[in-house]
Amino acid sequence: MKKNEGIFYSPIIKFISACHKCRACVHACPIKAIEWGVGELIVNRVACAQYVLKKGECLNCAAACYRGALTLEKYKITDGKIEKVTLD
Ligand code: SF4
Ligand code: SF4
Repeated sequence: MKKNEGIFYSPIIKFISACHKCRACVHACPIKAIEWGVGELIVNRVACAQYVLKKGECLNCAAACYRGALTLEKYKITDGKIEKVTLD
C-alpha cells in the first residue's frame, strides 16, 4: 500500500442545530485541518488523512465536541483523491 492510500475517519457536523460554534474542535486538531467557513466546518481531508495514516486513529476533534454535534465518518484516500465510504 502506498503511503498516501488507505482508510481513515474524519469529522463532519452531524447535528448542525447542536453546534454552538464554540470552535473546540478547531482548536483540538493537532494539524489545524479544521476551520470555520460560513456557518460550517471546513475540513482539509487530505491533511487529516495524512495525519491519521501516519499517526494512527485520531479522535481529537470529535472528543472535544461536548455538544455531540460532530461525528467521524469513514473515508478512503487513493492517490490524493478522497471518497466517502458508505455501507452497502
Ligand atoms: S481526526 Fe484528528 S487530524 Fe482529522 S480533523 Fe479531527 S483532530 Fe484533525
Ligand atoms: S466542538 Fe462541536 S459545538 Fe463546538 S464548534 Fe465544533 S462541532 Fe460545533
